[in-house]
Amino acid sequence: MTDPGLVERLAGVRDGIADAARSAGRPVEEITTVVVTKFQPVSLVRELFELGVRDFGESRHQEAQAKAADLAGSGIRWHFVGQLQGKKARQVRAYSSVIHSVDRESLVTALGGPVGTAGGTNADDGVNVDCFVQVNLTDDPARGGVSIANLAPLVERVLESDGLTLLGLMAVAPLGAEPRRSFALVSELGAQMRQIAPDARYLSMGMSQDYAAAIAEGATHLRIGTAITGNRPAPVNLKTS
Ligand SMILES: *Cc1c(COP(=O)(O)O)cnc(C)c1O
Repeated sequence: MTDPGLVERLAGVRDGIADAARSAGRPVEEITTVVVTKFQPVSLVRELFELGVRDFGESRHQEAQAKAADLAGSGIRWHFVGQLQGKKARQVRAYSSVIHSVDRESLVTALGGPVGTAGGTNADDGVNVDCFVQVNLTDDPARGGVSIANLAPLVERVLESDGLTLLGLMAVAPLGAEPRRSFALVSELGAQMRQIAPDARYLSMGMSQDYAAAIAEGATHLRIGTAITGNRPAPVNLKTS
């Protein structure tokens, strides 16, 4: 049984996205909504799939890997949006269509390199994995993302690397800042980046609370969790469950 609340929230967010796109004079088709299902059960992913969602975001490797295995062959595109450990990078790459959180050279090294060795679908197909470079708009390195000062050299490393296709930039609006200003900065950084990476025209930004501002500043990939899923349950430790 599909939860009527879920149907309503999904429709509400879809309307909100359409409105924001219209206000910005942008075609809504150029905006991909990634529904972030971290901490949510796979049953919720299935319900959303039935409602037409194909792009799902996850932020923890073990949980994402288990869901991807459960739903293998469904045609779902998995977007990895969380902080990524180097030693897990090849495994994440194996089930992910898009990795939104590339933020350091060691991760580029771990993710890149010759395809065919990661042991998963993408690698078996010899396909590049799409990625975003995540930029940190705060002074706190724990937030994830490369500093603005180190952005250009990291972009160059991604461009040089085999096996990775650079889509553009990803960012999270800092708490307490005006989101639209933060997104305008990301958009400006994206324009600068295109001087060295002309095809990297996508921007992954905008979450439940600030997606309209992100659309106004050119977001192409929204990462929306709770506005669609409802509140997240407390994290489950998958090792013991
Ligand atoms: C959890 C998460 C989201 C979704 O956040 P909501 O506020 O639930 O929409 C988006 N991006 C990242 C990187 C996340 O970790």
